[in-house]
Order: sequence, then structure tokens, then C-alpha cells
Amino acid sequence: MTFQDLQLLPALLRAVGDMGYVEPSPIQAAAIPPVLAGRDLIGCAQTGTGKTAAFAIPILQRLQKKADGSHKPIRALILTPTRELALQIQDNFERYSKYLPLRSTVIFGGVGQMPQVEAIRKGVDVLVATPGRLNDLCNQGHIDLKKIETFVLDEADRMLDMGFIHDVRKVIARLPQRR
Ligand code: AMP
Repeated sequence: MTFQDLQLLPALLRAVGDMGYVEPSPIQAAAIPPVLAGRDLIGCAQTGTGKTAAFAIPILQRLQKKADGSHKPIRALILTPTRELALQIQDNFERYSKYLPLRSTVIFGGVGQMPQVEAIRKGVDVLVATPGRLNDLCNQGHIDLKKIETFVLDEADRMLDMGFIHDVRKVIARLPQRR
């Protein structure tokens, strides 16, 4: 199996090539087709096996296929338990979208919210967030999740271990029924 076999957009193939990836990892080969088809998916694989690209690449492709260009509501939300993971995931989105006109940003607690609010105000397609800060900014009216098409619970098991269940439920309650 190659990345070409997965029928990715040329801009994504080029970005993947720049990363030096030769072929999709097993979780990528298994996850990319159903995510491209818009299906729900639960993926389990060990750390370091390429899970981030397994969701980031097909999400970017779906966003690009239906890109609106003008105004930018947040269309994909990635929820993850820690600041470190959030930063890593957004870095991945940036790398894979470097040849696409799609934007992402990252929010997490423990730092001032102003720059985060400013970044969101400018318009982003993809938001990577930790649960507490996301709910905070939603409560303050800075973030609208009504146009979310794709929702990812990254490290869902760890999120539960860390006691984020209430925050996660609150986030889910803000999302459209169909996603
Ligand atoms: P992750 O499991 O998402 O944290 O990815 C672990 C590491 O594997 C990261 O450094 C990725 O850049 C790298 N990686 C992801 N997909 C592939 C691939 N198909 N081939 C080679 N390396 C990859």
C-alpha cells in the first residue's frame, strides 16, 4: 500500500513526501479510507505508530474538498488531554496542510487567553484544544462549535483517566448532532 493508493489530493501527497514518509503505517492504511468516507471510527495503536496523521490527513482532505474560501467557521475539532499533545497535533496539521489554504490553531490552559482568542477571531478551519480552556472560551462566547463537521477525541482513554469526562460531555453538547 502506498499513499497514492489512498487517493489523497496531490497537495497532501506532496506534504507527506516532504516528511519523508514512504508508505502509510498500518493504523494509517486502516483509518484513512473510512475517515475519507465520512464514517465514524475508533482507532487503537501504540504511541509512535502514526495515529496523528491517521486522522489529520483525511480530515484535511475532507475540509479541502468542501472548502468555502471566504469566511472560516471552525469545521474540525480535535480534543486532547495535554498541552504537549495539543501542540504536537497542531504542528502535524500545519505540516500536512502546508500546500493547502487551510488554517489551524491550538488552545490550552495555563497561559493567557488573549493570543488564542485573537487567532480564532482571524478564522481557522481546524481547532486543536484541551477540554478546560475550550469550554472556558465557549462560555465567554469566543468560540462557536455549531459548524463542526469532524470531531476527534485524541487519547480518549487518557482523557477519562485524567478526569475530563464532565468537560468532554460539555463539549459534545455544543456540537451539531450530525458530525
Ligand atoms: P504519532 O504516532 O502520530 O505521534 O507519530 C509518530 C512519528 O511517526 C512522528 O514523528 C511522525 O512524523 C512519524 N510518522 C507518521 N506517519 C509516518 C509514516 N507513514 N511513515 C514514517 N513516519 C511516520
